[in-house]
Amino acid sequence: MRYRSIRFRLTVWYTAVLAAGLVLFSVLVWVSLRHQLMADIERELEGRANRLENYFRAESAKPGVDLPDELEEFCQALSPDSYVILHGAGGFSFEYPVLNSSAAAAGKAAAEIDRTKRGGASEIRMVEHRFTLNNNAFDLKVGEPTEDVARVLQLLRYLLWSLIPVVIAIACAGGAWLSGRVLKPVQDVTDAALLISIENLSDRVPVPQTGDEIARLAEVLNSMLARLESAVKTLSQFVADASHELRTPLAVIRTTAELALRRGRTPESYRESLHDVVREAERMTRLVEELLVLARSDAEVAQMPREALDAREILQDVSAEIQHLADSRQIFIQTHLGETAATISANRPALHRLFLVLLDNAVKYSPAGGRVAVSIQNAGETVAVSIQDFGRGIPKTDLPRIFERFYRADTAPETTPVTLVHDAGHGLGLPLAESIAKAHGAFIEVESAEGQGSIFRVVFSARLAEPERQIAAAKAPARV
Ligand code: ADP
Repeated sequence: MRYRSIRFRLTVWYTAVLAAGLVLFSVLVWVSLRHQLMADIERELEGRANRLENYFRAESAKPGVDLPDELEEFCQALSPDSYVILHGAGGFSFEYPVLNSSAAAAGKAAAEIDRTKRGGASEIRMVEHRFTLNNNAFDLKVGEPTEDVARVLQLLRYLLWSLIPVVIAIACAGGAWLSGRVLKPVQDVTDAALLISIENLSDRVPVPQTGDEIARLAEVLNSMLARLESAVKTLSQFVADASHELRTPLAVIRTTAELALRRGRTPESYRESLHDVVREAERMTRLVEELLVLARSDAEVAQMPREALDAREILQDVSAEIQHLADSRQIFIQTHLGETAATISANRPALHRLFLVLLDNAVKYSPAGGRVAVSIQNAGETVAVSIQDFGRGIPKTDLPRIFERFYRADTAPETTPVTLVHDAGHGLGLPLAESIAKAHGAFIEVESAEGQGSIFRVVFSARLAEPERQIAAAKAPARV
């Protein structure tokens, strides 16, 4: 049992509290018993003095009586160790026991009386009783040894002092056993948790069927393990998907180069092969960039520095950026951005990328000559940015999955190259957009009907932190 373990500390505390309790209890028992026994003796002595006084009164009333003799007879009927001393006016004096060396006995009695009075370790308890008879004052002292009381008290003391250590030792062992039993589930959980590593993340710690705090701790640990397991699964799936996606352009580059090298070719043929290689390399670069941004946005979700921005500004920049792609397919980008500033707290580059993904998709999935509508709904508490296209729409079965990494619906332009605006994506755009939205405390809603088009709506909170509000207020008159 290590000295810092809970079990050790529990045992020590338990033993210390019990020992203190036992000592206190013993002292109380001893003191109250002593008090009680002494009070009994005193009561008995008072009674004896009263009886002696009555007897003395009665005898002294009789004529021709030898008072000391009568008193001695009375005293002999008392317990053998009794002391009686009676002094009275006119030199009357009686002391019991009357031994041959009565002076010595009386001396001893007087000495002991003295000690009693001084409150020393009393061997004789004396009570004083004064009375008057025929106008003469009498001083009566009645005493008895307290040896019996001392013996009882000593026996009790021995018993207590010898029993207390035994009781404490038993309690200490019992306490250690009990706390060991109570803490066993903690030990089990610790042992099981120690064995869990990345290879066996599906293992769980045992949950004791007690419904107590330890069971709750084990449940919480298990739910944490479940979350870790699913995060690790997602991560390895992500790595597998990313490797798979990278393999295709790599294979294309390799076969193109190998084919070109197999025999001598015309400069045009080499040029064509190199062109293919460059295109695939570009595709790979874009994929790696997207992967990097996604990985970074996961890691930096909380730390994105934000400022008060007018969403209209960003949307206009993004529309301008995508314009040449839209023009190449005669797609008209229609913007309804309103007159008032749509101020939100956001990170400029991240927000730019979010809108770019949505607008790029809208253009990509629209038929040539189509239309894409970009609008802002500023509803006080929230600012919603809608990007609507009138293209193919998303099948109902794909809708719940489009935000998954690497997910591409069957209708993706890669399979229908007629609508290909620029290179096909990798199914990373929407997950990236969602992760940026989450980092901004926003969410993305999608409405889509197959053959009719889709609306992607990003809903932001319009509430700003105080410093951002001040900057936004300073900027307010500027119109976009
Ligand atoms: P991709 O690079 O394939 O566009 P995204 O993550 O941006 O990847 O989108 C995932 C899938 O969602 C796409 O493959 C496509 O099938 C579907 N999708 C996204 N936006 C639209 C849209 N505006 N219209 C139709 N389908 C869309």
